[in-house]
Amino acid sequence: MIDNPQSIYEKMREQGYSRRDFLRFCSYIAAAAGINATGLSTVVKALETKPRPPVIWLHYQECTCCSESFIRASHPVVADIILDKISLDYSELLQAAAGVQAEEVLSETIKKYRGQYLMTVEGSIPTNNGGVYCTIAGRTSLDRVKEIAEGAKAIIAWGSCASWGCVQSANPNPTGATPVHKIITNKPIIRVPGCPPIADVMAGVIVYLLAFDRLPELDHFGRPMSFYSKRVHDSCYRRPYYDAGLFVESFDDGSAKKGHCLYKTGCKGPVTYNSCGIIRWNNGVSYCIQSGHPCIGCTEENFWNNEPFYQHLSSFPGFGIETTADTIGATVGGIAVAGIAAHAIATNIRKRKTIGENASHNAHDDNDTKPADKQEGGE
Ligand code: SF4
Ligand code: SF4
Repeated sequence: MIDNPQSIYEKMREQGYSRRDFLRFCSYIAAAAGINATGLSTVVKALETKPRPPVIWLHYQECTCCSESFIRASHPVVADIILDKISLDYSELLQAAAGVQAEEVLSETIKKYRGQYLMTVEGSIPTNNGGVYCTIAGRTSLDRVKEIAEGAKAIIAWGSCASWGCVQSANPNPTGATPVHKIITNKPIIRVPGCPPIADVMAGVIVYLLAFDRLPELDHFGRPMSFYSKRVHDSCYRRPYYDAGLFVESFDDGSAKKGHCLYKTGCKGPVTYNSCGIIRWNNGVSYCIQSGHPCIGCTEENFWNNEPFYQHLSSFPGFGIETTADTIGATVGGIAVAGIAAHAIATNIRKRKTIGENASHNAHDDNDTKPADKQEGGE
């Protein structure tokens, strides 16, 4: 544990980063977190002057993919500085200490920084049979999470396990796997779901807390609006094919080769909230849909128990691009939704008919024509 924590800027300078690198990093992280130009100076000042916050990073029933994702963030500073210098007060996965030594660090951090430390959790917490399915240092994760949460300033639930329960809570949920917010109810909790969450989203959340010393704007599930307010469908580059009614029917068919919409092969993009289509993965290189696989809805509650991965949604969504999880929550099941869905179906059928007619006119035409070229008076 560091007695006099340095600011992120001081740490960057010590590691040989220039002032320009620092400013670039601030811009990058502010953009990722949806902070506008007026907020950028606050980010710069905070990272320049504020000591890094004490963080206790806990691991329970999980595969560690959230940490794996984080250390592969696209900006080198995230791994070099944010993770290295922020998360290591206590991190069961990454700390060098083990056994008694690690436990001493944990209790010292809890005591010394009571009311100040950030508690982050990866993994769900088993509650069946007194929580015996996950024990650390002879104590159940259920006991530990309650005790450590007591002195925490705020909690971040990393990934779908800590946010929803994820695969461990899939039917029949033998361990009674439970997300953090169902166990801790008296602390502010930010949920950052995903299996795993995008590294730049994780970094953006931490930096936001550090810079503004308050929670970012959250939706009614506790997810930061700047990253989870739009559906994957809304930023999908295959969206023109969806709107045009051009779908992949089975993997490796002609439509798959042309990159058409994956809705019929089970894509959950229309009901999934994440920034994949904007931020993407692996330094912004790609994401599931770009790699030819339908979105499986990994940020959503019960995604393992919901409709099968390769079966298309039972309803045909047609919500507008500005719709958020909150507004969908308020309208789902209503007549309005039925009307919108019916409109979307009718629109797609009309478009497909037009496309079909055009296609037969141009039958000798190429195989690669884009739907935008074929739409006439599309909506
Ligand atoms: S259904 Fe899936 S593949 Fe098709 S446009 Fe929406 S998100 Fe993209
Ligand atoms: S595209 Fe869907 S399944 Fe893939 S990472 Fe994004 S939200 Fe998760």
